[in-house]
Amino acid sequence: MDNKRTAIVTGAGVGIGKGIASALADEGYNVVVADIDEENGRKVAEELSGRGVQSLAVKCDVSSAADVERLFSQTAETFGKVDVLVNNAGIYPFVPFEKMQESDWDKVMDVNLKSVFLCSKEALKTMSEGGRIINISSIASLVGFSGLTHYCATKGGVNGMVRALALEMAPKNITVNAVAPGVIRTPGTRVVEDLEKQMMPMIPLARVGQPEDIANAVVFLASEKSSYITGQVIVVDGGWTAR
Ligand code: NAP
Repeated sequence: MDNKRTAIVTGAGVGIGKGIASALADEGYNVVVADIDEENGRKVAEELSGRGVQSLAVKCDVSSAADVERLFSQTAETFGKVDVLVNNAGIYPFVPFEKMQESDWDKVMDVNLKSVFLCSKEALKTMSEGGRIINISSIASLVGFSGLTHYCATKGGVNGMVRALALEMAPKNITVNAVAPGVIRTPGTRVVEDLEKQMMPMIPLARVGQPEDIANAVVFLASEKSSYITGQVIVVDGGWTAR
């Protein structure tokens, strides 16, 4: 066990989560890489461990209470307390509303929203000296996207949770915030055909975002420099929602 600060990043095997894990490691955090894909998580943890920090990969389905409990117990065994939790894992399967099944709805709710409840509950138990909870929301919490009714509802839910939990946690010196990305190039968005081309006219800065763009905001929210910010949703979207 060492006295460096420890961050857990969920869904950190690829994409935005991997970018966040990498940026936090560059800042000197020990990083727990939690992902449902064990192989990708292990690769990221190995990569980070070569940078003077410790990194632990834990296979975890964030929608499973048992997996989340195991994630936090393994983290406690290795690092003691958790200083920063980044709730990043999320899915965005496009399904037209009229074809959407109850199972589609439940799956997206469980992975994107219930997970934030489960992980935050466990993190709070270890944040006796204060801490940071940072949720990866989406501009889909602010504007609608066809085919993503369930997804938009979960991200709106995340923003609501951020505000309410920030109030409850303020006396404990735990800040709770969200980063809401626009379109970011990741393995998840690559599978949607022509997504970037379709979305480009919506982006005033005329480029698709990179995981680092989101990681930079997360590093700031994790740092002491953000100590007076809580209950906020910071939009990082190249200006999309400024229109
Ligand atoms: P991604 O490329 O699909 O990567 C997500 C990672 O999370 C994958 O490794 C995935 O594993 C893992 N994962 C999926 N379900 C999980 C579960 N139940 N438990 C633990 N890990 C799980 O996604 P991304 O584009 O980086 O998005 C990350 C977050 O940013 C999400 O919350 C998303 O809603 C949000 N976001 C993304 C964008 C964007 O444009 N990319 C925009 C706004 C918001 P598998 O590959 O095995 O499923």
